[in-house]
Amino acid sequence: MKTLLLKGWIALLCTLAAAPAFAFNVFACEPEWASLAQELGGDKVSVVSATTARSDPHRIEARPSLIARIRDADLVICSGSELEIGWLPLLLTQSGNNRIQPGSPGYLEASQSVVRLEVPKVVDRSLGDIHPAGNPHVHLDPRNIAKIADVLSARLAELDGANAATYKSRGDAFRDRWQAAMKRWQSEAAPLKGVPIVVYHKDMSYFINWAGMREVGSLEPKPGIPPTPSHLAQLVEQMKRSPAKAVVYSPYNNPGAAQFLSERANVPIVPLPFTVGGTDRAKDLFGLFDDTIERLLAVKK
Ligand SMILES: [Zn+2]
Repeated sequence: MKTLLLKGWIALLCTLAAAPAFAFNVFACEPEWASLAQELGGDKVSVVSATTARSDPHRIEARPSLIARIRDADLVICSGSELEIGWLPLLLTQSGNNRIQPGSPGYLEASQSVVRLEVPKVVDRSLGDIHPAGNPHVHLDPRNIAKIADVLSARLAELDGANAATYKSRGDAFRDRWQAAMKRWQSEAAPLKGVPIVVYHKDMSYFINWAGMREVGSLEPKPGIPPTPSHLAQLVEQMKRSPAKAVVYSPYNNPGAAQFLSERANVPIVPLPFTVGGTDRAKDLFGLFDDTIERLLAVKK
């Protein structure tokens, strides 16, 4: 009996050690920012992600469990640029948490720290475009991760001053590791330059831009509008004239349309991780880029 009780206490102490009661709570909208916050915060932070690689970050449900998590958040980090406009405003309103409202230091939009691609000259929502503020999927350019890491690191130190020194040293260490990885990726991805691919949703633009690849079509006629038979037929015709090297899609896309085009146009289909957790190898941000580059190089050969 005594041993059991002792074991129970040890288990409890271990749990407490794993999740410090006063941890700084980070609520990330997407797995890539959860992963970055974990890298930079280590055991000083407790991180949750509102979405997984399999959920479509444009449209999730503002579930009560998410409201409960955001209520305790000390920092909210999201892609921004209206990616989460369908659910985050509701969560923020329901949270009753003043620390994380837009405009306060506890609210961070990653895309505000980088140069956004595809900012439309004229916004016409009637066309159904869900990227009216430019492309929000900024995490797939490793240079953007470097910039956002610096901003996030500084923000953690500002909001959780007691642990500022830890954030500083973790931030420095991450920067070194990331710069080294970027150098390696740059040479590994060199053969991808100029390679034409078809995407499902316009969520690979930053990677394509970084690697110098060419996006020659998207299965969605407009970002957020599901593939239509006429649009697919058009792409099949286009592929006959100038074939792409691959049709890529992300874990949250329905692969049906990608398979259709792949079969009709005889172009290989390549599932990409898109974010952390999207494939077995994409366990963290480093694995995300390793795996994305490797999968694309495989079709290049
Ligand atoms: Zn999008």
